[in-house]
Amino acid sequence: MDNWKPSTKAVHAGTKRSQFGELSEAIFMTQGFLYDSAEQAEARFIEAGEEEFIYARYGNPTVAMFEERMAAIEGAEDAFATASGMAAVNGALMALVKAGDHVVAARALFGSCLFIVDEILPTFGVDVTLVDGTDLDAWREAVRPDTKVCFLEAISNPTLEVIDIAGVSEIAHAAGAVVVVDNVFATPVFQRSLELGADVVVYSATKHIDGQGRCLGGIVLGTKEFVRGPLQTYLKHTGAALSPFNAWVMVKGLETLALRCEAQAASATYLADKLKGHKSLSRVLHPFSEDHPQQALAKKQMTRGGTMLSLELAGGKDAAFKFLNALQIVRISNNLGDAKSIVTHPATTTHQRLSDEQRAGLGISDGLVRISIGLEDRDDLLDDMLAALAG
Ligand SMILES: *Cc1c(COP(=O)(O)O)cnc(C)c1O
Repeated sequence: MDNWKPSTKAVHAGTKRSQFGELSEAIFMTQGFLYDSAEQAEARFIEAGEEEFIYARYGNPTVAMFEERMAAIEGAEDAFATASGMAAVNGALMALVKAGDHVVAARALFGSCLFIVDEILPTFGVDVTLVDGTDLDAWREAVRPDTKVCFLEAISNPTLEVIDIAGVSEIAHAAGAVVVVDNVFATPVFQRSLELGADVVVYSATKHIDGQGRCLGGIVLGTKEFVRGPLQTYLKHTGAALSPFNAWVMVKGLETLALRCEAQAASATYLADKLKGHKSLSRVLHPFSEDHPQQALAKKQMTRGGTMLSLELAGGKDAAFKFLNALQIVRISNNLGDAKSIVTHPATTTHQRLSDEQRAGLGISDGLVRISIGLEDRDDLLDDMLAALAG
């Protein structure tokens, strides 16, 4: 299996079959597991083997299929699945830091990720420095001998800035810190963060991995030592376990992940090119656009520019709201990575909680809209957007 390409692993890796030899993966909807004898129970509590389970909060065969398949695709030694992306981010960070430690994080983070590093960690005595993630000098200045973690989203939400993972990793590792990458926007298909230097990769499986807007889920990937050590210890006792049903949805999602992401990303790049220069738009943001300030870095790190596209309407909030309300195919919601195209107005929804100053610092203007490109025909999407821009 080790020589299989990621798309083959996405269909076959990690499959566990019962005595019935079912072709499709089974949902093991069970909390507990039986032991043949008291001795076997004792032995399993001392050390559970790979295919031995104790209780679904610790592990479950369907959840293990998702973990093993994801680890195979990502090129990670091991993985632990969680009930949501935020449980994964929280688990990864909590397993790595303690009171008195220092964390450096990129400032442009998903709202709840920012809440963890900016509000929760400091209340537990962790010192946090936020930096402009695209500025390697800022990372260099911020790391200290007590820095334990550098945390970033490789492509920022919603302005789609690109962070140099190899550059940040070099700086972090020189200081003895671990690099944790939230790779949701880049997807497991387009970016191999571990090969670029990251130590731990986190996903909200709710996004592209499910890909059809059904279930919450998350996963943390890294070395066996980390995953089966401090991470598993933290997660199994704090109860962020993924439900076997949701794990099954994610396993089946992985089978079509590459196909979906390739199609969605090709449409995103196509739409960015077609919309560029439109008189109602002051900015068209997509990592693979010619005019993206970090296009070269994006092309170095990723095989495609991702499935997201952000547009800035020159007419500010009024124009943005008119645009959202006029769209027929692209629907207003705040999820992403879905088969259905989705539009979000970050300033009044996902980033509403920030101050005007914070929003300005992140480039989130009142005219900015974020679009997650789905699986619809790309020309239908273009027509929908052009008609909505025309008002
Ligand atoms: C959605 C998202 C999360 C949180 O995931 P949930 O599954 O909603 O908990 C974390 N990081 C990024 C970048 C996200 O887009």
